[in-house]
Amino acid sequence: MRHEGSLRRPDVARAFEAVPRHRFVPGVTLEEAYADRAISIKSDGGETLASISQPSMLARMLELAEIEPGHRVLEIGTGSGYNAALIAEIAGTSAQVVTVEVESDLSEHAREALAACGYDNVRVVLGDGREEVPGEAPFDRVIVSARANDVARAWWQQLRDGGRIIVPLDIGAGGEYAVGFTRYGDELRSVGVVHCLFVPLRGELGTAPPERVFTRTLDVRYGSQPRPIKSILAVPTTAASPELLERADVVVAQPQTTFAVTWG
Ligand code: SAH
Repeated sequence: MRHEGSLRRPDVARAFEAVPRHRFVPGVTLEEAYADRAISIKSDGGETLASISQPSMLARMLELAEIEPGHRVLEIGTGSGYNAALIAEIAGTSAQVVTVEVESDLSEHAREALAACGYDNVRVVLGDGREEVPGEAPFDRVIVSARANDVARAWWQQLRDGGRIIVPLDIGAGGEYAVGFTRYGDELRSVGVVHCLFVPLRGELGTAPPERVFTRTLDVRYGSQPRPIKSILAVPTTAASPELLERADVVVAQPQTTFAVTWG
């Protein structure tokens, strides 16, 4: 990883060196476990339900997250538990990591692997990550490990003001991007965007197509060609006003969150 030059933050680099990835994907060769590839860990009739993510992609997302020692971090989509371990390494022993997984077998395996590797500050919660985890908010960081087409209000509400959320978003704007947002009250402002590839979040936020798309000019052909995203301003859909279009090239109104996208 390091020799490919993809890591800029030393804390992220150290985390990749520290976490034994093979402990989170039993039954594969050492070579497979340390290749820069995603590995499917659960599928159903040919459809991948969960995978251990590609390390270089996780690295870029974790760099975007700028996790600091002592942070409280919420992860949605535990899967193997590998990313939770990386987060725990970066946040350190004084931190609390809460990770939510909807599949009970995966949740159990991840809990065991994390405990076996000594990550006692990671709490693995079985449940639907689209809902709030009772008694744990606020978090400094929220990291979503599955593809969504909306930002759940529950994620937003569990994030402290000034905190950061990283979410793999596919809102029809030319592909799937992990977008890092900082919360300013009732606004999320993007701080960076990286290409990514995730399995969809189970439930509504993972599958519904974009609901309502607004553009100012007819020649902005939404979704026809991948266009680089420069920035996204996100607000609760209940608070979205037409003025958003004055600040963006395209506005996508999803059920919970409205995204004002500026192309690069
Ligand atoms: N972070 C993982 C990658 C997980 S893949 C790793 O490092 O290995 C995405 C995971 O999200 C899958 O395990 C899937 O079961 C889980 N998931 C999907 N929808 C979910 C939901 N609504 N709530 C919680 N977890 C969900």
